[in-house]
Amino acid sequence: MAKYIPVIGMEIHAELKTQSKMFCSCLNESEFQKEPNIHICPVCTGQPGALPTTNKQAILFVQKVGVALHCRINDWSKFDRKNYFYPDLPKGYQISQYDKPLVEMGYLDIDDARIGITRIHMEEDTAKSQHIQETGETLIDFNRSGLPLMELVTEPDITSGEQAKKFCQKLQRILRYLNVSYADMEKGQMRCEANISLYQEGEARLSGTKVEVKNLNSFRSVERAIVYEIERQTQALEHGEKIAQETRGWNDVQQKTISQRIKESAHDYRYFPEPDIPPMEFSLEYKEILQKSLPELPEEKKRRFIEQMSLTDEQAEILTNDKDLASYFENSMSELDEKILSKEFLGDYQKAKKRL
Ligand SMILES: [Zn+2]
Repeated sequence: MAKYIPVIGMEIHAELKTQSKMFCSCLNESEFQKEPNIHICPVCTGQPGALPTTNKQAILFVQKVGVALHCRINDWSKFDRKNYFYPDLPKGYQISQYDKPLVEMGYLDIDDARIGITRIHMEEDTAKSQHIQETGETLIDFNRSGLPLMELVTEPDITSGEQAKKFCQKLQRILRYLNVSYADMEKGQMRCEANISLYQEGEARLSGTKVEVKNLNSFRSVERAIVYEIERQTQALEHGEKIAQETRGWNDVQQKTISQRIKESAHDYRYFPEPDIPPMEFSLEYKEILQKSLPELPEEKKRRFIEQMSLTDEQAEILTNDKDLASYFENSMSELDEKILSKEFLGDYQKAKKRL
């Protein structure tokens, strides 16, 4: 029987927790705002003639993520218009980045595998549509419109659902350590999509047809959707069927992916440079300061905990998993013996976790 090998790439969006929106001074508070259309202005509701201004904090946040993921921080970068119409995008285009993203070519290690990062770019979020079933109406909330969104694209280096899940978990931890995003998947602050294809042993690695899977709202669904999709594609190929190039959505209730649309040709968004925002340039000095501005990251902290306190890998993993827990632990340390404390603390923590 033929052996099929999976090739998986991820696209991850994360909402950045800046003070204001990406291109206007409206507050970035959609997370806490229950009332719709409170934080809006002519820019983020797409009024003709309204001019965007760039949020520097958001740019810095993306570049910090880039440094943490060993990426190249580009000397210059620009915004582009991605043209398409949708009711939650009234100006008819999204400001995004096409050929000159802020950050390119990095990696994140997962166990023994190195997952390449192709690029990280900056774009604006769209408004949020809400469909009311009883009346058939659709309501639009512009609080989310124009929020800063980073998009990270990986190389197709991932080989299993479990590895994809670990990648997303590790990335979430980095975003939280850097304090750039709440990255809560259930709240849509971190959104993952997977591109999955299979190739037959002996054939070219990227020869399979790529299927895009969306609606992955938890780490568990990232893993399960990929496992399901690998199985579905394997079965189809073994039965001599062709894999359709399509977008599928993960249905968490039925635990399967469902076809949403067949991609007959690539979208033509007619990207062109955003004429209202000048290109950005970053000096060597700026990049040096940026490099130094990074806090200690989860992996480094974990290594230090293991070395300084003779903790096991698992203990250090538990302690550094959550940034607040790690700092609580470290702050308690000055007063008591490190080794005893670490054991007691972990004991208490695990007891506390069981009680929850
Ligand atoms: Zn606004």
